Amino acid sequence: MKIVVIGAGVAGLSIGWRLRQSGAEVTVLERAQLARGATWASAGMIAAAAEIGSNDTPEGRLAHNSAALWPKFAQEIEAASDIGIGFRQDGTLIIARSDAEAAELQRRASTERRFLLANKARGLEPLLGEDVAGALLDLTEAQVDNRALGPALAVAFQRAGGKLQVNEPVVRIEVENGRAVAARTPFHMYRADAFVLAAGAWSSRIEGLPPEAVPPIIPVKGEMLALAPRNAAPPKRMIWGNGIYMLTRHGQLLLGATVTREGFDTRTTKQSAESLLERASAVIPGLTGWDVVEHWAGLRPGSLDDRPLIGPSALEGLFVASGQYRNGILFAPAIAELMRDIVLNGAAPEPTFDPRRFAKVEANA
Ligand SMILES: Cc1cc2nc3c(=O)[nH]c(=O)nc-3n(C[C@H](O)[C@H](O)[C@H](O)COP(=O)(O)OP(=O)(O)OC[C@H]3O[C@@H](n4cnc5c(N)ncnc54)[C@H](O)[C@@H]3O)c2cc1C
Repeated sequence: MKIVVIGAGVAGLSIGWRLRQSGAEVTVLERAQLARGATWASAGMIAAAAEIGSNDTPEGRLAHNSAALWPKFAQEIEAASDIGIGFRQDGTLIIARSDAEAAELQRRASTERRFLLANKARGLEPLLGEDVAGALLDLTEAQVDNRALGPALAVAFQRAGGKLQVNEPVVRIEVENGRAVAARTPFHMYRADAFVLAAGAWSSRIEGLPPEAVPPIIPVKGEMLALAPRNAAPPKRMIWGNGIYMLTRHGQLLLGATVTREGFDTRTTKQSAESLLERASAVIPGLTGWDVVEHWAGLRPGSLDDRPLIGPSALEGLFVASGQYRNGILFAPAIAELMRDIVLNGAAPEPTFDPRRFAKVEANA
């Protein structure tokens, strides 16, 4: 089976790799450089509990299943690419800053998630401020160096026999007799049996699709900062609290992230930097004097119901893997397996994530 994947972010590359490993002839087409979209801009957290909570919803199950796949996925990527991707499972501290927040965290405690009194939390992370009222320690949460992940996946995919074309945008899907038959770029027509649209925040911008097959994906901007610690070791664990997260990568403390809907604008703003610093310094007061060494923005692929789109579109031969919003790194190994089973074996998509749910809404309206 011949398959074209559109987009070389974490989604397109992981899906392409899994499809190739199952014997498909796979070409990934990337309009710019590989994995320089949201995959590069993200924080690389694999934070099912902190981001999504419990596993009693389809999204919770997707998140927790995918988090459980990550340790082996990371090992497999490193072995196949000979590139380290910095997967670390050293946990998250979710901070409460009032008694009400502490009571809420206490309710969420379980065998995997321990509630800590304030002094215990500060014992673990001495930089925490005085107004910490308690914390939830989750040792299952992990992180990966997302800027190494993309290139590593690309090598793993290519070593498995996949073809990757960068600087080649898909501008149009050609349709014949109600079926997607080719992806058109400025240079070539790629005919294939199936097409996987994994173009991140840009997934709705390909021409040629009937309206009901266009995935309603919306760019959701996120800005982040990296700080160089001064006279102190940065925290060991990821820290969540006061509407912000912080994590240490390559000795720097990353702060994230803003959430705004401003179209495809990726300019960074002074207001966002100030807001991130203000929120972070309420949790770790000592970081006020640390230097900002990087400030960047990226576009998350948001969807109309904030849930991912994983499965067939309303156009035969076209499949969608998008709308992962804040959790595309976390979801990557599970989405890759689901898409492999859907595209190659005709497995049914989880209804909550079926891209055709939006086509149905449109038809009913
Ligand atoms: C600031 C920020 C922090 C985040 N933190 C986290 C986190 O900690 N954990 C987590 O799980 N998620 C996080 N996310 C979300 C995560 O980054 C995304 O959900 C995920 O990267 C989406 O992956 P993707 O491959 O679908 O999209 P992308 O990585 O954006 O890749 C899409 C690719 O498609 C290409 N493309 C677009 N159009 C075309 C075309 N027409 N033809 C060919 N190629 C095309 C693009 O150039 C791009 O390379 C964060 C996002 C942001 C912005």
